[in-house]
Amino acid sequence: MYLYNSATHKKELFTTHTPDHVEMYTCGPTVYHFAHIGNLRSYIMEDVLEKYLRFAGYDVNRVMNITDVGHLTSDADEGEDKMLKGARREHKTVMEIAQYYTDAFFADCRKLNIKTPDVVQPATGLIDDYIHIVETLLNKGFAYVAGGNVYFDTGKLPRYYVFNDHKEEDLAVGVREGVEEDTNKRSKNDFVLWFTKSKFEDQALKWDSPWGVGYPGWHIECSGISMKYNGEYLDLHCGGVDNAFPHHTNEIAQSESYLGHPWCTHWCHVAHLNTTDGKMSKSKGEFLTVSLLEEKGYDPIAYRFFCLQSHYRKNLVFTWENLDNAVAAYDKLLARLSSVDPEDGAVDEAAAAALTEPFRAAMDNDLNTPNAVTALYGVLKATANGATKWAAIEAMDSVLGIKLAEKAAAKRAKQAETAGAADGFFVVCEDGEKSAQIEDLLRRRAEAKKSRDFAEADRIRDALKEQGVEITDMSGGVKWRRV
Ligand code: AMP
Ligand code: ZN
Repeated sequence: MYLYNSATHKKELFTTHTPDHVEMYTCGPTVYHFAHIGNLRSYIMEDVLEKYLRFAGYDVNRVMNITDVGHLTSDADEGEDKMLKGARREHKTVMEIAQYYTDAFFADCRKLNIKTPDVVQPATGLIDDYIHIVETLLNKGFAYVAGGNVYFDTGKLPRYYVFNDHKEEDLAVGVREGVEEDTNKRSKNDFVLWFTKSKFEDQALKWDSPWGVGYPGWHIECSGISMKYNGEYLDLHCGGVDNAFPHHTNEIAQSESYLGHPWCTHWCHVAHLNTTDGKMSKSKGEFLTVSLLEEKGYDPIAYRFFCLQSHYRKNLVFTWENLDNAVAAYDKLLARLSSVDPEDGAVDEAAAAALTEPFRAAMDNDLNTPNAVTALYGVLKATANGATKWAAIEAMDSVLGIKLAEKAAAKRAKQAETAGAADGFFVVCEDGEKSAQIEDLLRRRAEAKKSRDFAEADRIRDALKEQGVEITDMSGGVKWRRV
């Protein structure tokens, strides 16, 4: 598969340290509030990537952190700790806030059909590991103690930032308006590995360390968690594009300095979901959540479909109108799928595999989910029996995750119900047309078949054909359309 690598700025053939095995890491949520649907766009696309790697034959070990400590309200180490801010707002302890919003995050993930990573590690659970990394960095000369804090010394690195997508002015943290310069730093790029002194002395969670009672810096958790559960060689690191700098740059700096060799080969960043008035942000207080979508009557899976219709490296604009368009397209797709009978014939495995080829080609080309969705329509148009088509669709949906079989079956059942089939036998027009005359003929034909009067059944079929009506027998009913 070819996947864009933010570290090299190229679409590259994806390779792994160990053949057929992917060590994958994803930056997890900061659990001081609900995830907004922008955050969830990142998790949906990362879920699709993980599932596609598995589909392509890799065995994947996916690790994710939960940021329940140490995430400051801005990149500039200023303002309050986000967790503390959440706890104050809700008159709860930091740990209560963390548990509540971690549960809420996974509940949202379930609604969006996002698989839980193999390892989920709250940041507060590995403090000793971070301390060990910081000690090692100090011993190796990559860190220094100043003003009670431990800083990473970026001046010791052969290269500092690898994602040139960010500009020099992004690095000018100390000189940004309203941000006090941290005079302990030797260089403006240096960052805190361990705090014992910070601007907010009331930090709720603190631990003993060789440098005094304090708490870890923002970036060390991801390095520590990944190196513990993914090992020394990471194949794929994912996150939203805002994580690229300074978070990922600093993760690379500290991990490679600690390990003494290159760490992660492939970096994947998901572009933002924006509203028409700009970036969606949790810290702004008001934002769109999965629960809000549900309250407004939207199926969360339709939101997943909306995300799949855009490429992950393009910004996506959220408007209700755009979502409505996606809902309409999703519904149309389900309507077409519901008229493909899964019990029609036996699965031709080779034909089903061939039907998934355009899907594979799309996904192999930098996870092109819009084309992968188009490939579903290709299967609908193909000449194959229903069982074979469904085998292909279900294989593709094991990656896309839009519950096609389940929802199409539900639609079929509903059609049967509305077709008024008291005996369980349904008659339905593919284009939604109602015709008592055609329905009556089709029911008579079914009766004839039941009493083995095949001549009568064929006569009715031919009569309908003459009227320009084509019929397809399905398990439990029949569908028709005008040709
Ligand atoms: P956070 O909970 O703020 O740490 O963010 C969780 C994930 O969502 C990170 O990977 C972020 O990069 C990502 N993210 C944040 N805002 C957006 C957005 N508007 N669109 C897409 N992803 C986002
Ligand atoms: Zn991270």
